Amino acid sequence: MPIILGSLKETNKEIFRDSEQAFKEAIENGVLTENRSNDCFGCSNCSFCKGDYAGNWMYMKTIGKTDYFKNIYTRKYITTGN
Ligand SMILES: [Zn+2]
Repeated sequence: MPIILGSLKETNKEIFRDSEQAFKEAIENGVLTENRSNDCFGCSNCSFCKGDYAGNWMYMKTIGKTDYFKNIYTRKYITTGN
């Protein structure tokens, strides 16, 4: 059996943390914003839908210190953290 170092395993582990906390940090870091820039409700093509408004994104997972968010319209991912 190979020996897997605990720290190595920990770093790459996929976890789900408190999504509110993940959003809060993403907003603090400027990755996402709480400011709604227009009244679009999901055409998926405009700059707003593709943009950084937090309401357009779902928290998906965390690997190491990186949080993954998925855009609910474009299905693209962004990451925050290291
Ligand atoms: Zn739109």
